[in-house]
Amino acid sequence: MTTFLTILAAIGVAWALAYNKANGLAWSLGLAAGAAWLTWATGTPLYILTTVWIAVGVFAALSIVKPLRRMIVTGPIFSLYKRILPQISQTEQEALDAGSIWWDADLFTGDPDWAKLLAYPEARLSAEEKAFIDGPVEELCGMLDEWDITHNRMDLPPEAWKFIREKGFLGIIIPKSYGGLGFSAYAHTEIVTKISTRSGTAAVTVMVPNSLGPAELLIHYGTEEQKNHYLPRLAKGLEIPCFALTNPEAGSDAGAIPDFGIVCKGMHEGREVLGVRLTWEKRYITLGPVATILGMAFKLFDPDKLLGGKEEVGITLALIPTTHKGVNIGRRHIPLAAAFMNGPNWGKDVFIPMQWIIGGEAQIGKGWRMLVECLAAGRSISLPSMSMAAGKLGSRATGAYSRVRAQFKTPIGRFEGVEEALARIGGNTYMMDATRRLTMTALDSGEKPSVISAICKYHMTERMRSIVNDAMDIHGGKGIMMGPNNYLGHAYGNVPIAITVEGANILTRSLIIFGQGAIRCHPFVLKEIAAAGANDLGAFDTALWGHMCFTISNAARSLWLGIFGGQGLSVPGGPDTRRYLQMMTRFSSAFALLSDVSMFVIGGSLKRREKISGRLGDILSLLYITSATIKRFHDEGRQKDDLPLLTWAMYDSFFKLQVAMDGVIDNFPNRFVAACLRVLAFPKGLTLNAPYDKCGAKVAAILLTPGAARDRLTAGAYIPRDENDVIGRLEFAMEATIKADPIEAKVRQALKGGKLPQKTLAERRASAVAQGIITQDEHDHLMYTDRLRREVIKVDDHEHDLSRGAKAQEEPWQQAEARKKAVAASM
Ligand SMILES: Cc1cc2nc3c(=O)[nH]c(=O)nc-3n(C[C@H](O)[C@H](O)[C@H](O)COP(=O)(O)OP(=O)(O)OC[C@H]3O[C@@H](n4cnc5c(N)ncnc54)[C@H](O)[C@@H]3O)c2cc1C
Repeated sequence: MTTFLTILAAIGVAWALAYNKANGLAWSLGLAAGAAWLTWATGTPLYILTTVWIAVGVFAALSIVKPLRRMIVTGPIFSLYKRILPQISQTEQEALDAGSIWWDADLFTGDPDWAKLLAYPEARLSAEEKAFIDGPVEELCGMLDEWDITHNRMDLPPEAWKFIREKGFLGIIIPKSYGGLGFSAYAHTEIVTKISTRSGTAAVTVMVPNSLGPAELLIHYGTEEQKNHYLPRLAKGLEIPCFALTNPEAGSDAGAIPDFGIVCKGMHEGREVLGVRLTWEKRYITLGPVATILGMAFKLFDPDKLLGGKEEVGITLALIPTTHKGVNIGRRHIPLAAAFMNGPNWGKDVFIPMQWIIGGEAQIGKGWRMLVECLAAGRSISLPSMSMAAGKLGSRATGAYSRVRAQFKTPIGRFEGVEEALARIGGNTYMMDATRRLTMTALDSGEKPSVISAICKYHMTERMRSIVNDAMDIHGGKGIMMGPNNYLGHAYGNVPIAITVEGANILTRSLIIFGQGAIRCHPFVLKEIAAAGANDLGAFDTALWGHMCFTISNAARSLWLGIFGGQGLSVPGGPDTRRYLQMMTRFSSAFALLSDVSMFVIGGSLKRREKISGRLGDILSLLYITSATIKRFHDEGRQKDDLPLLTWAMYDSFFKLQVAMDGVIDNFPNRFVAACLRVLAFPKGLTLNAPYDKCGAKVAAILLTPGAARDRLTAGAYIPRDENDVIGRLEFAMEATIKADPIEAKVRQALKGGKLPQKTLAERRASAVAQGIITQDEHDHLMYTDRLRREVIKVDDHEHDLSRGAKAQEEPWQQAEARKKAVAASM
């Protein structure tokens, strides 16, 4: 019994030391105390006592006397580490170095500081930004008809183009000092989101010049001369920009573009100047067919050493007027269901002067770093905003449609199967908006969070895919038949665009999120790599021992928190979120442990084990998304009505977290380590459930009922209060249907009681009025509701030849050419 209690006490002490990240001295004292107890309180034989004391002494010497430890332990590890550290190419290194880390780093600690999260300022609009969104953005939305744009014109209407340029939509990010709007990142997402709820084509047209492209690059790296010339012109839409990186041979692997430039002398404006002779072939370039300036990425070589440095200079960026001799702006691509301008361009041996290189000679060869740095911020704005629009419109319209559309004499939203899909739409939208807001807080406080932006890009576009698929399923044929009455089909077509651009999703999930996160956000890995790079044994020793304590602590914490589900941890916030934060601390510890063990056991080849690193990336992402969701609930004043959305989001995420962790362990290459990890991460097994059906039903009810929770969920979507508008009409129809329900119930009741004739609906209603069962006003409301309902369920039909005869007379190309000439003439 005494022995059992002793072992238990020893385990308890060891666990407490590990849990609290004890240092070498504390461990040594603990071990010495244990050895002393063995010596004086037990009859342990002398030879065992001697061995124990020697072991304690060696441990104490190595953990406390740093020079000794460095010589005997850390030194050999350091040599091995330097040998096995995977080779990182320059482009990979630049990608790793780009941007900053933020809340993502806290999630890697295994013990995030929730008070810090809740204290981050909430993303807000200034009065000027709000006025712009309520004014010009609303007005632009009112000018857009996606069917007309994508079917009749294959372009935006000329008045929309004019409005976009004149009102400064192409200069949202350009500082006011250069004539731009100079808006915050939050305002930027609100603008793109609202436009996207109306027209994907217009949204892409606005988002691209404000995203990774000439303006962004010039703001950060341009010479004063370039900024003063181009930024005011871009802000006012006098220049239409595009940015060309992708080559047919290099898409995802953009650092491998074969487009090249040779430094040489050539003639420019009648003088011989130093410049670059460029050869390129680009495709998929958004706004390319109408651009007046072409941003271009190419590899620069200096074989004659005219710049005085290396022969292989590196990726370089330039701005080239599209009217420049030798620039070929080709024909158009058609991007699925949208009609924004997109096409190829190419040139061979085109001479450009040095001053066209973005940032001038100072930025020569630094193009890759410039691109990834800009991507670090931009990736969290454009596609996430487009996804957000799908969520908001999907929630609003699908909820309304499910209330208005009835089958089997029941609104379809009341069927459990539909309810399930509605819950996914609502829950995902709530989480996505939370993620967007938290990320905008980071951007507006000056961060360029590269890992978070990858999380946003991947998870928001994937959730967009889920929402649009669910919305399409619920709408049935109504979502399929294209025409002015279809408000979903275009979003369905836009999904793969959002999935593919700015880092295709499979690559982003499997290579970038954890790959970059593990190095950038981990409290010790980057320090170890830097120490190896600098050949600094002292720094390596400090980082390595810190790392070991960190891993041991997370193993202890993970086990303890897993047994008790995090119960008892002190967390800030109200009772509604307490359990969630406790569980998230548990998951953060387990995640830190899994990450460390994966990096230690799998090592450099983890980069190639994309299925493992993809799952680890999912865990990190879900921790970020759940953090954002809690923060949103907190910032919005802990609205009781939103509790079903919060609960659904948390259960869904925790369940997915469990699946991802389970997947890492199940597929871990070393089965013994996997078994240990399973005990530490899931001491009580897989205990978490997906959201309960009852919770899903409450989320669906939010979508099916006009009210504050539905308004909060869909705030920022363009919902015109207009019965003649396809989305506006849905709102009227929903309200009318809800008001009609009790009136119809009276008629049904009377029919059941045999008071009304079993004839046509019209005759029954007329009889109900005549008998005073319903009033004339109520009768009129039923008729009004019928009319709206018919309008809502209506789909479009077209001429047998789909009006091809009439369309042949139109020539969208001529319009595009004319507009390009007009832009060129206005320069
Ligand atoms: C509508 C549209 C607009 C665009 N606009 C522009 C623009 O304005 N400027 C510009 O320069 N480019 C633009 N692009 C190009 C876009 O950036 C590329 O399409 C994108 O980088 C993917 O390249 P890819 O299409 O060649 O696919 P590929 O690179 O061939 O990829 C195919 C698949 O392989 C996966 N994959 C690749 N490598 C890995 C890996 N290591 N691990 C796991 N999976 C991997 C990808 O995720 C993807 O699923 C646009 C593209 C589209 C469709």
